[in-house]
Amino acid sequence: MAGDRRAGGNQREIFHAQNCSLYIEEGETVKVLLVRPKPHRETIGLQHVMICEPLELEYLVSNIPDFIKKSIDIKIVDMILEKISYESVLLKEKPDFILFTGYITHVGIIKKLAEQAKGLLPEISTGAGGVHAEVVPKDFKCEYIDFVFDRNGIDGFNEALKALLEGKSKSDIREMLKESGPKKYSFSYKHPAREAVSQYRKYYYYMFHKPCALIKTSFGCPYNCQFCFCREITDGKYFARDVEDVIDELEAIKEEEIYIVDDDFLYDADRIGDFIAAIKERNIRKKFLVYGRADFIVENESLLKEFKDCGLQAVIVGIESIRSKDLHDYHKGTTKQVNEKCIGILKSMDIELYATLIIPLDFSKKDFRELTAWLKALEVRFVNLQPLTPLPGTDIFDMYLPELLIRCEDYHLWDMAHVALKPKHMSISEFYLQLLASYYKVIMRPRHVAALIKKYGIKANIKMLIGSSFVSWQYLQKIWRGK
Ligand code: SF4
Repeated sequence: MAGDRRAGGNQREIFHAQNCSLYIEEGETVKVLLVRPKPHRETIGLQHVMICEPLELEYLVSNIPDFIKKSIDIKIVDMILEKISYESVLLKEKPDFILFTGYITHVGIIKKLAEQAKGLLPEISTGAGGVHAEVVPKDFKCEYIDFVFDRNGIDGFNEALKALLEGKSKSDIREMLKESGPKKYSFSYKHPAREAVSQYRKYYYYMFHKPCALIKTSFGCPYNCQFCFCREITDGKYFARDVEDVIDELEAIKEEEIYIVDDDFLYDADRIGDFIAAIKERNIRKKFLVYGRADFIVENESLLKEFKDCGLQAVIVGIESIRSKDLHDYHKGTTKQVNEKCIGILKSMDIELYATLIIPLDFSKKDFRELTAWLKALEVRFVNLQPLTPLPGTDIFDMYLPELLIRCEDYHLWDMAHVALKPKHMSISEFYLQLLASYYKVIMRPRHVAALIKKYGIKANIKMLIGSSFVSWQYLQKIWRGK
């Protein structure tokens, strides 16, 4: 709502901020911007090899009640893809309410963006939400953020919108949000408004999966891995959407590539069976990328085969470690043998494996050598090696607090790629060097590169090479600076 619309004429007061009142004319709408921020340039990121749609913002758009919808003008701005600057967006859109969502790495950026918004548009209301806001809401506490949505984000957002339209003060809204009901452990909302990002959709991709749409079918995870942030979002609880509802949503998605962003999609064999049966029945032809555990894959080989025949292309598996002690300490519940069997099964079915591993800080050069040799011997083609990072909000955070190398307030460095704890057997530079060397030894093998070119084409491979070169360059800077 522009400042020049504030005086005179046939006006009604619909906003009443803490220190000022805002007015709009009859028939005008309140402008709401939902912003997905661009990561900090120091964040070492998978953003160079993937950009996924902001599903949480699309859910906000689709679930606004009709009586609110008619009074607002809402827009999603994806600052990763937006061509104009944030300042230009603010000056062009002049929002009355701006909401940001992001991960821990975005907290500092979100605070800065909120400050900038308040500087340019002093009457604006600002809010922050997303998974980090739900687990560690105190991190967003600052004078520039009016509302932090720490639970039931969709409901909270609608309550705040309604209250703003009713002219409630920001402090009253904060109180109201504090007193709103407990966290919900169920999910029954309208499907996300994918059309709200129609101008960006063709740019959303995940590695070789392009263009790629996201869908979420379940929440939380029933397992108990100590390092895991995902399970904190639902307080360790797991709940899933009705399969029929998921299939209805899937059927309406235009993209062929589908990334199912459940923390653990491959959990309930009966539910996966129902999902496969429904896909077959409705003749849905999609290509799926999912998260799954190694033990499920080993125990449900025939189900995986059936899923493969219905479009399963790739599985992201938390292999985590090849050392029994680590798997035990992490409470992972798998073994090296299970991991090996899982890798073999996926390979035999030509299902792509994206393996993720955690590198503990007591890793020696010998450990790096053994891990690299193991990955090469099993012909793993894609791997993400993450230095052990005790994320705030997880079970292991307090345990490692005295040993942290990264300050809590340097949010952009909590990317699970920076070394967050002091390595025991080598310098920080050497640790980064070992990580980078292992990556290249596993991924850049001529045979693998040739197979990838054959499977995905030269253009997609060049794009991936450029993206991964950015990440390598960030690592090289770390090696050079030694921190
Ligand atoms: S299985 Fe995966 S999602 Fe579940 S707790 Fe372990 S790491 Fe987290």
